[in-house]
Amino acid sequence: MLYASKWLGILPSSGSCSCSVSLLVRKLSSVSGAAPKVCIVGGGPAGFYTAQQLLKARHDIVVDIYERLPVPFGLVRFGVAPDHPEVKNVINTFTQTAHSERFYFHGNVNVGMDISVEELKEAYHAVVLSYGAEGNRSLAVSGEDLIGVFSARDFVGWYNGHPSNKELHPDLNCETVVILGQGNVALDIARVLLSPLDMLKKTDITQRALQTLAASRVRRVLMVGRRGPLQIAGTIKEVREMINLPGTKADLLPVDYDGIAEALNGRNVDRAHDKNIENGGWWTGSKQAMGIRFLRSPVKVLPGADGKRVAGIRLAVKKLEGSGEGAQAIPTGHTEDLECGMVICSIGYKSLPIDPAVPFDPRRAIVQNNLGRVQGTAGLYCSGWLKRGPTGVIATTMNDSFDTARIILNDLEAGTLDMSIHKPGAQDITALLKARGVREVSFSEWEKINSEEVRRGEALGKPREKLLDVEEMLAVAWS
Ligand code: FAD
Ligand code: NAP
Repeated sequence: MLYASKWLGILPSSGSCSCSVSLLVRKLSSVSGAAPKVCIVGGGPAGFYTAQQLLKARHDIVVDIYERLPVPFGLVRFGVAPDHPEVKNVINTFTQTAHSERFYFHGNVNVGMDISVEELKEAYHAVVLSYGAEGNRSLAVSGEDLIGVFSARDFVGWYNGHPSNKELHPDLNCETVVILGQGNVALDIARVLLSPLDMLKKTDITQRALQTLAASRVRRVLMVGRRGPLQIAGTIKEVREMINLPGTKADLLPVDYDGIAEALNGRNVDRAHDKNIENGGWWTGSKQAMGIRFLRSPVKVLPGADGKRVAGIRLAVKKLEGSGEGAQAIPTGHTEDLECGMVICSIGYKSLPIDPAVPFDPRRAIVQNNLGRVQGTAGLYCSGWLKRGPTGVIATTMNDSFDTARIILNDLEAGTLDMSIHKPGAQDITALLKARGVREVSFSEWEKINSEEVRRGEALGKPREKLLDVEEMLAVAWS
């Protein structure tokens, strides 16, 4: 029995060992099938926070996380900007959870490919889907597939070392980059493109990205949004950080702020918007500039003379109807062309279905659920971006995951989840995976990858240098 043998020290454990008799009883009761066995699909914040809450609330529960990559932490590793290291401190909490004796990490397992959700349901009392949003919304305009047009997800994955994006090779041999969308992801990308290299060198951005940025000719980034300054999706702290970036001039149009004070009806006009107006004016020859353009929607990505590479973008000019958050942008009938050498489409990530057995709402791109209970499927739950869509910071994801965990705990208490049935848990899944030639990466094996990355980073004066290649990660993990 996997759990018993790990606990009794027959197999090496990544967790600390306790010798208390009560723990032994609890562990052995889990072996007899009395303890709830829960598995979570996805090792990002939603997965770890759901696990944390379950482990904290019940001292008999056993939680397994199945993660597609050999490395954990999802967008904390592959999304959060390299110059925001403090945000990544949540990894310490996740690592504490991972060191629980009742928690097991199974990296390198692609659920939906290596193992089905149905097979997980057979092996566990409850299955939680927390696999995030691995796709991206598309603009659905012509020219989207031209060379030089990137999704934000790919571009962020490239500078953050996601193995799927290691071959991206963006060509920064151009003066102007247009970013479509005005959320925090767009702001992250703009900052990375325009930050002084010395600031980035000390972060965990990949060396490959640093080398490309060192040769970059980009001097102007324009962040284009379809609505007005009061509807901007990015948060004020991040807007301010961008506007104050050393060596970069803010390029804002005072006309965009006409009527803002009246619209706010006597409330303080946001200081950042005030500052935008102060700094406003067309970009005039400073070393580099960050522009924000409002009330513009993409109509067409324009090709250059070769018909293959992006040379500009056509935008529909809009006007606002309504006010505040709910204001709608209505076309005026006018268009405007902007010249640029690269377009980054940052209009949001998107969850994808991974298993036909799971009800999926294609319009909202989420798993159909009611408060985290997957509709029509007892024992199946969801949390995080997959549950509510691809918005919200880590704290939002934490609260949402705690909610899902509470729903599971309620269902356990209420008897909705039948605990009289013995569930084999990871024992059966590991055997199935082995038969299919899939070898898992445990948390202690991830910690070997971690040590290697930190070691490589030290030599470069960085917190870590990420391994970019799954094969290399596996070689280090299993060495
Ligand atoms: P994810 O973090 O995406 O985790 C999902 C996990 O599931 C991944 O590890 C993935 O590999 C795994 N997975 C996918 N498919 C499978 C499968 N088939 N089988 C097994 N595993 C699978 N929030 C902040 O508070 N501060 C920030 O600075 C910040 N920066 C961000 C920057 C970017 C670019 C983005 C996109 C988001 C940022 N956020 C930030 C938001 C934050 O990252 C999210 O709230 C959070 O990561 C969502 O967690 P999740 O677990 O739902 O998804
Ligand atoms: P987001 O905040 O939802 O922003 C998406 C942007 O795309 C908005 O400007 C939106 O405009 C625009 N958009 C959507 N569909 C469009 C279309 N069809 N055409 C044109 N524009 C379109 O998403 P995000 O930037 O990807 O961020 C995701 C989440 O991660 C957010 O909650 C964010 O706060 C979080 N995050 C946080 C940080 C941080 O805390 N530092 C950093 C990165 C990400 P409308 O507003 O008009 O819809």
